[in-house]
Amino acid sequence: MSFIVAVDGPSGTGKGTITKLVAEKFNFQYIDTGAMYRCVTLKLLNEKIDANDTEKIEKILKEIKIDLKGTSVFLDGKDVSKKIREEDVNNNVSQISHIPIVRTMMVELQRRMSEGKNVILDGRDIGTNVFPNAEVKIFLDASVEERAQRRYKQNQENGIDITLDEIKKNIEFRDNNDKNSKVGTFKMAEDAIYIDTTNLSINQVKNKVFKIIKKKMKLVEKIENAYKMTKDNAWKRFRHSFTKGFLGLLYRIVYRPKIVGVENFPKDEGFIICSKHINYLDAAGIILLNKPKIRFIAKADLYRFWPLSYLGHLFDIIPIKRDSGDINSVKMCLKALKNKEILGIFPEGTRKGLEKNMKVKNGAVFLAEKAKVKIVPVGIQGSFKPFTKITFNYGKPIDVHSLKTDDPDWIDKASEKIMDDIIMLTKEKV
Ligand code: C5P
Repeated sequence: MSFIVAVDGPSGTGKGTITKLVAEKFNFQYIDTGAMYRCVTLKLLNEKIDANDTEKIEKILKEIKIDLKGTSVFLDGKDVSKKIREEDVNNNVSQISHIPIVRTMMVELQRRMSEGKNVILDGRDIGTNVFPNAEVKIFLDASVEERAQRRYKQNQENGIDITLDEIKKNIEFRDNNDKNSKVGTFKMAEDAIYIDTTNLSINQVKNKVFKIIKKKMKLVEKIENAYKMTKDNAWKRFRHSFTKGFLGLLYRIVYRPKIVGVENFPKDEGFIICSKHINYLDAAGIILLNKPKIRFIAKADLYRFWPLSYLGHLFDIIPIKRDSGDINSVKMCLKALKNKEILGIFPEGTRKGLEKNMKVKNGAVFLAEKAKVKIVPVGIQGSFKPFTKITFNYGKPIDVHSLKTDDPDWIDKASEKIMDDIIMLTKEKV
């Protein structure tokens, strides 16, 4: 498992201090990405290479050896922890760090250094660019005055002689450069947690950050457990049929459902039901009102809340982390289809995804093609207002192989065609 914590924010907000404390407490590897850009800057300054000489810079980047050992920084085997904080580097690092080739290669290196590990990285673009899917994203901020004071104190402790005014000017200059650069533009990730540290002590910030990380680690653990799924035994089967019967009855009373086209379900083989997603009750209807067991694929966050996580386990919902690339999920789906099980997927990804102008997700076609199974589209007619009629209109099974062409985008196009069928079934008179 790899757990990534991204800490972004301007210089002097206490990122380094907090990040080190977290690394120690949770036994995470600490990657100071600012120190990496500082190493590149120092090397270019030492070798007197012009910032516009892309060819020479690329050569240097291929040879450079940066090692972060605890809080010490080594450049080509030499301890440069102090040197990279000096004025020369301070004045040039912002410009150097925004040279496209420097950014590309450093981001690549940061990802490689983090592979398969629990890591905390601090920088400017970790949550937005390096790890947009990081488990935790924190953005630390503080006023320029406060940040300059902190840096001044830190420099004095380290025997670095720069005046407060110079530090303030340098911070403002770097802030400006970082915000207005074309590459690696510095901004807060939308899903980051913002902490203004101006009037907070290190201890207060530390406690806040520890709490955020602990909470997320607990959730991740819950989700990991969801992948392991409770074993199928007689007690679980009993609870499953009882709950399905009870909730199914309730559903029938409240919605007076009509079900059309179940004779279209392929016999004695696994298949995928693709449905429009208007409401959580659409998945419930498909699961509860059909005789065969149907396993839906749902956002792993479902396992965050007790009642949902209980039902998720009971109905063997397959959790999916993030938008795509969740290899555990894909494996579980393929295994289920091979075992002739029936899966339920919403190609819109999210509720009313199409209305929100989102692209149709291609996961269902991808799985159907890999597992060689058919897709049954279903249109849902009705509004889910209590005591009104709701119709589940199942269409003819679609063989995705018949939709396969030489076009490299055929999976996307086939997914759109399936979505069109679903919409047609939603409108069809039955
Ligand atoms: O964090 P620190 O002040 O050591 O970073 C030095 C400089 O490196 C920053 O001012 C910024 O220009 C650059 N940097 C960056 N992206 C990062 C980390 C640092 O552009 N992820």
